[in-house]
Amino acid sequence: MLAERMKGFSGSQTSGMRNRARKLRAEGVHVVNFAAGELDQDTSPGIKAAAHKAIDSGKTQYTDTLGIGELRQRLAQKVTQKTGTTYAADEVGFTAGAKQALFNANFVLFQPGDEVIIPSPYWVTLPEQVRLAGATPVALPTVHNHFQINVDELARLITPRTRGIILNTPHNPTGVVYSAETLKKIAGLAVRHDLICLFDECYDELVYAPAVHHNIVKVAPEMKARTVLIGSLSKSYCMAGWRAGFFAASQPVVKAIANLQSHIASNPCSLVQYAALAAFAPENDAFVAGNLKQLTAQRATALQLVGKIPGLPCVAPDGAFYLFPDVSSLFDKSFKGRRVENVDCLAEMLLEHAHIAIVPGSAFGCDRHIRISYAIPTEEIITGLTRLEQFVQMLA
Ligand code: PMP
Repeated sequence: MLAERMKGFSGSQTSGMRNRARKLRAEGVHVVNFAAGELDQDTSPGIKAAAHKAIDSGKTQYTDTLGIGELRQRLAQKVTQKTGTTYAADEVGFTAGAKQALFNANFVLFQPGDEVIIPSPYWVTLPEQVRLAGATPVALPTVHNHFQINVDELARLITPRTRGIILNTPHNPTGVVYSAETLKKIAGLAVRHDLICLFDECYDELVYAPAVHHNIVKVAPEMKARTVLIGSLSKSYCMAGWRAGFFAASQPVVKAIANLQSHIASNPCSLVQYAALAAFAPENDAFVAGNLKQLTAQRATALQLVGKIPGLPCVAPDGAFYLFPDVSSLFDKSFKGRRVENVDCLAEMLLEHAHIAIVPGSAFGCDRHIRISYAIPTEEIITGLTRLEQFVQMLA
């Protein structure tokens, strides 16, 4: 009954793990949820107040497809500041989350026959959206390079069919950030081979000093014409459920995305647009800074506890809020007679026996690692990672 394009297409594995953890919790089991892709923190009162005000003042009609003028002006200002390159209001747009911005960009830019390079591991949705656009994702392995991009290896993947590259920094699931030097070299390749760059910087405000986030248009302004910048309010502003994201691109791309979005969603939720304006207000900066401070402490706790577990090497993340340890030393060991065959099996056993939910690396194209989100209360991190340590000790 289903269309050909849905063959072999499955739902997001990160959402799947979250749903299973939720179900166990509903049954009364205390599950430590390391599978979340968001901060365990409510949206700030100022943002909520702005949404209430929007409801009470009747901001309940359709809006312009890519958002109200005031919001697009503010986004343009924000992107101009971030890139050091001028963006006008008609070079940005607001969407129902970065996920929609990314989908729109993939759909208007890539087509059957195109190859799109994505560093692997990757956020689970990136290759699926390339496939939905009819193009072919091409993985650039980074595991052997501590998840950093080797630009020579990237260059070797470029063929006459290569149309684009999708970069995500700070990176989900590994937490690495790309250096200005790496981005500059990639920009050189993009210009030389006429490639488009989708640049996903959803975690740009969640970076741990001394590391810093770099934007590809900032380090190589000539990239503006061939780059779609993607941003999200889900993480830094704790607005994951509101669905608030945005993009910046050249005018023809913005126009194509507006046409697409007009037939799919008309406009992003009007109320969320007013909430987003409040999120960007200077009064909200302290909220973001407070969250980063808290994440810095949670990161230290998580790194210390995972570091204590023998055989789980882990690259320390410079951004986002995930650890991505290598668990392959546990393969072929057994727990109560059941063999840890692979990373999916490990994820199931951890949920069932240790009552901790993690996301298996297979969801990110990586079968030797697991993703642990530390954006949960410190007591939960301690309880969960202690359970992980005990589970590992019981393997024989
Ligand atoms: N890009 C990356 C790398 C992400 O991790 C996520 C969310 N997990 C998104 C995009 C989508 O974010 P949003 O909630 O704004 O759709």
